[in-house]
This record gives sequence, structure tokens and C-alpha cells, in this order.
Amino acid sequence: MNENVFFGAEALASLAALVSRPAVTQIFVLVDTNTARYCLPLLERQLPMGFTPIEISAGEEYKSLATCETVWEALTEARADRHALLVNVGGGVVTDLGGFCAALYKRGISFVQVPTTLLAQVDASVGGKTGVDFLGFKNQLGVFQEPMAVCIEPRFLQTLDPRQLKAGYAEIVKHWLIADAAAFARNRRIGILVDDWTPLIQESVALKQGIVAQDPLESGLRKLLNFGHTVGHALESYLLTQPGREILHGEAVAAGIICEAWLSHRKGLLSDLELDQVETFLFSIFDKVQFVTLETEAIADFARQDKKNAGTTINCTLLEGIGHGVYDQPVTVAEIAESLRYYHR
Ligand code: NAD
Ligand code: ZN
Repeated sequence: MNENVFFGAEALASLAALVSRPAVTQIFVLVDTNTARYCLPLLERQLPMGFTPIEISAGEEYKSLATCETVWEALTEARADRHALLVNVGGGVVTDLGGFCAALYKRGISFVQVPTTLLAQVDASVGGKTGVDFLGFKNQLGVFQEPMAVCIEPRFLQTLDPRQLKAGYAEIVKHWLIADAAAFARNRRIGILVDDWTPLIQESVALKQGIVAQDPLESGLRKLLNFGHTVGHALESYLLTQPGREILHGEAVAAGIICEAWLSHRKGLLSDLELDQVETFLFSIFDKVQFVTLETEAIADFARQDKKNAGTTINCTLLEGIGHGVYDQPVTVAEIAESLRYYHR
């Protein structure tokens, strides 16, 4: 388990201490166009020793090998050696891509994750998964590589678009549904009107870390964290191919959670009441993702090609009651299409 996860005021102080170590030859800070604007000023105040920023374009469509090349070019041109440190400041796109770039540059340089979206703070920056999308498939290329530290400063969320905040909330709900029934029951009543995100973020990170620690390379238990993502990724990948129909990862996951809760119900694992609670709660926060019934087969087909599937069986994580995920549950493409029709009804 990565013990170096720091929160709040301690986060940026720890970052300053880490980058000041004599072993670090050069400090690079990876940002996207938005975090360059909204997050770099705070970082500049915390890191008076100075650093070299590397800026990439914002958005999932830039989570690509082509963007990695621009990062590797910048590192090479600055003659970064193996003791250079890459600090990734941004949402899941920057932390996934930056971690991947660091893991491959000169067979691996150290990196620190400074997540600045709710989604990256509760999920993407923790657990050591890095990677980029390829040929239209999400996270098709990637490696497991733990960062030197994760520095989580909830103040960064102040400039975040409310739509992005909601998207991150979907991953928190996912954590409750697979492992914490009490938190789901408690927060179901409160909803997303949260004043202070810090405790929710800390709890969610602890929950994820607890699972990852038992199965860092995802041979079993870690698959629980894929709940909502078999259908979610299929929907996200499909809509990525449709010009002008963008969807945020967390929005796709929220829809995926409803579909996979329905699949759990269909397999007799989830009661009518529980399905209703999951659905009602998520629809109280998220608008229904727009697609037409005719598209359900095409969307479901993307699940077939999801990298998590062994052969032709689609292994899905389902719920055996709220707060209790079960992984490796076989479902067919036809059942996935049916779950999408249920969602769409
Ligand atoms: P993102 O990185 O695209 O960030 C969302 C938007 O918010 C971007 O436009 C970004 O520029 C902007 N932004 C970031 N921080 C900001 C701030 N503080 N103020 C204002 N704007 C800000 O998307 P995301 O939702 O953070 O991450 C999604 C990605 O994370 C997906 O690619 C997904 O696959 C990945 N992910 C990875 C893991 C993992 O375990 N590695 C887990 C979950 C998700
Ligand atoms: Zn996710």
C-alpha cells in the first residue's frame, strides 16, 4: 500500500519536502491548459525552489500516445536524467498520462500525483494504475506504477466545474456500493450538497487503498473497483466515436452503476428495494445519458472488447446486496444490451 498519501494543508507541504530532497536533479510539473491556469499559482507559492512546467491540452481525447510523445520530448530536450521528478497536477487524464510517461521515461523516473478533480482525488490518483487510451479503447496501454506520493488538496476543487464535481461523486458512490453499506445509507439522505469534501475523500481513498493493498495487480479482489465500469466504459467508448456526444467518465460510470445494479437484480443478487434505492439516488443527481434504443447493441458490443474480459465471457462485477461487491460474474452481451434498454426506458 502507498503510505505516502497526504491530505489538506499537509499535502502541499509534503510535496515541497519531497521535491527539495538533494537526490532530485530536476523538477517537472505536468499540467493541462486548465490546471495551468487554476492550480499552478497555488503550487508556485508552495514550491519557491522553482520547476519546469510541461503543459498539455485538456480533455480525454488528449489522453493519447501522441500527447505522451510531447511530454517525453520536453523531458528529453531539458535533458532530464533518471533522478528527475515529475509532479502531475490535474485530473485523472493528467495523473494517468503523467504516471505512464514517468514509468516509461528512461525505464522509470519518480513521480508524484497532485490530483485536482474530485474524481482524481478519490480514485484515479490512488492505486498505481497509469495509462492512455488507444485506438478508441479506454486505458488500452498502461502499466502499474506506484507514485512516490499522492498529495490531495481539496482546495483545488474550488475552481472545478460543478458538472466535473458530480462526475467524481459517481466514483465515491461506487466505493460505497461495493464495500460500505452504512456510508451509502447515510449519504443517500444528504446527497451531493457537501460543505467539506475532506472526510468523504479520506474515507473513499482509505476504502480503495484497503482493496488495492490486498490485490495490487488486479488478479481478484481489486476487480471490485470495476463495478459500474463494464457498461460505463462501453458507453464512454461508444460515445467517444460519436462526434458532439461527449460524456464525462464519471457520468458514464453513474449510468453503468444503474445498468450493473439491474444485472445484479436480474441474477437474483440484489432486491427490488435495493435496485430502486441505487437508481433513485443516482437519478436524483445525474441526468439520463441520451442514446436511442437502436444503439444499445453497438454500445454493448464495446463491452466485449473491454480489456478485462478473458476470451468471450464478459466478467462483470455485480452487487450481492448494497455494500457487497462480487467480481467475475459472467454476463452476456445480450444481457448488457438489455440492461441499457432498462436504463433507457
Ligand atoms: P480530467 O482529467 O479530464 O479533468 C476534468 C476537467 O477538469 C479537465 O478539463 C481539466 O482540465 C479540468 N480541471 C482539473 N482540475 C481542475 C481544477 N482544480 N479547476 C478547474 N478545472 C480543473 O478528468 P477526470 O474526471 O479528473 O479523470 C478522468 C480520467 O481518469 C479518465 O481518463 C479515467 O479513465 C481516469 N481514471 C483512472 C483511474 C485509475 O485508477 N488510474 C480511476 C478512475 C478514473
Ligand atoms: Zn472510473
